[in-house]
Amino acid sequence: MAAPRKLAAGNWKMNGMRGALSEIEALARAHNGSRAEIVICPPATLIAAAAQAGGSVVAIGGQDCHRLDSGAHTGDISAPQLRDAGASHVIVGHSERRTNHAETDAMIADKAIAAHEAGLVTIICVGETEAERDGGETLDVIAGQLAGSVPECATAENSVIAYEPVWAIGTGRTPTNDQITEVHALLRERLMQRFADGEDFRLLYGGSVKPSNASEIFALANVDGALVGGASLKESDFSAIIAALNES
Ligand code: PEP
Repeated sequence: MAAPRKLAAGNWKMNGMRGALSEIEALARAHNGSRAEIVICPPATLIAAAAQAGGSVVAIGGQDCHRLDSGAHTGDISAPQLRDAGASHVIVGHSERRTNHAETDAMIADKAIAAHEAGLVTIICVGETEAERDGGETLDVIAGQLAGSVPECATAENSVIAYEPVWAIGTGRTPTNDQITEVHALLRERLMQRFADGEDFRLLYGGSVKPSNASEIFALANVDGALVGGASLKESDFSAIIAALNES
């Protein structure tokens, strides 16, 4: 079955106690029948309960996974464990993981392979720093991260690519429409060169997406949805973004 075309994914990062499950319950009530797929990636502590709260309307994802299925890796979580807890998706290669945990493209590709073997859909993140953009390196950086982080086993069914400029995450700043379009066109071109179903991979934009800019971003070519941080924490904000995606 072809994957639903549009995807709104929320990344709660290290935010949320059990009380926040009500936000997911509210999303599930508000979006029963949504054309766009909805995913929330809460902290690992909430995954099992979030899967209950989201039911069949809001899918649940992890924010990272280990490349191995089990073993002596204190503090880590494996892809089969995420799946067992009720997750169907996992983010890999978020810039905060690349920076704070020194994750390389090769490590991210290994995590993606583990996730695919466990039956999870990966949201694989790429994005340039501000210095790289200012230095005119954006397209080279993105092409390199895409080539190195997306494994050969990736398909349009099991993988989603998120373009998240590092300088736009949590800053309230967003690239121009032309800048987003240029990077998404590159992603599409490279995916089509490498994968038979490259045309069907969903491409998300991420970085300070909010209700006020969502419609404009969703109107851009090759933008199939968003990966949303801060504005996914409150049902009202995320619902407005989902509505914009459903109308796009
Ligand atoms: C993110 O961390 O993936 C993100 C896009 O954050 P924000 O929407 O808060 O910029």
